[in-house]
Amino acid sequence: MKLTPKVLFEKLLAYYGPQNWWPGEGFEIAVGAVLTQNTSWQNVELALENLRENDLLSPQKILDCKLDNLKKLIAPAGFFNQKALYLRNLSKFFQCNPQPTREELLSVKGIGEETADSILLYLFNQPEFVVDAYTVRISNRLGFGEAKAKRFWKQYYENALEPDPRLFNEFHALLVQHAKTFCFKNNPRCSDCFLQDDCTFGKSKKG
Ligand code: SF4
Repeated sequence: MKLTPKVLFEKLLAYYGPQNWWPGEGFEIAVGAVLTQNTSWQNVELALENLRENDLLSPQKILDCKLDNLKKLIAPAGFFNQKALYLRNLSKFFQCNPQPTREELLSVKGIGEETADSILLYLFNQPEFVVDAYTVRISNRLGFGEAKAKRFWKQYYENALEPDPRLFNEFHALLVQHAKTFCFKNNPRCSDCFLQDDCTFGKSKKG
């Protein structure tokens, strides 16, 4: 069977099972989406735990928190000077825009397309396909296309799939899982990968 995005989704789901994303709920999802920029989820968890312990997971509480204290608490997620300001921007924004559009979210300093789409998909259940570096890498290697632009791949997957937030939610999580299990940036484990026979890059590695 030709590998299409739908077939890819079914194969990933059959192999890994449901990923049950996003960990957390409500405003915490938006905070996590900012904190996860340029860092691993493990580091984000540490920062979120600090915010949870200090009861800071609401827009007003983040705005009331002293900036230096906020920086200290989110330090495990890295880039804490920037991210503390982004969290304040986002908190201010959420107080006036409890149901934001994509354009409105993108107008907030510190909220790029991937972060905006994560917030819209995982917090507001909107059918926005989230594309990260893992999605681009896997899509290129599988042979879906050579484009590097995240915007291209967002359109590609949204055109190929039903606009179903549950499907987009699971698909993104499965792609992340696949990138972390087999499709590493350097030295992907193609000979162990269940997608090797469907994958342009994987087939080229066969002896
Ligand atoms: S065969 Fe290799 S390149 Fe292709 S999806 Fe699997 S790990 Fe990635």
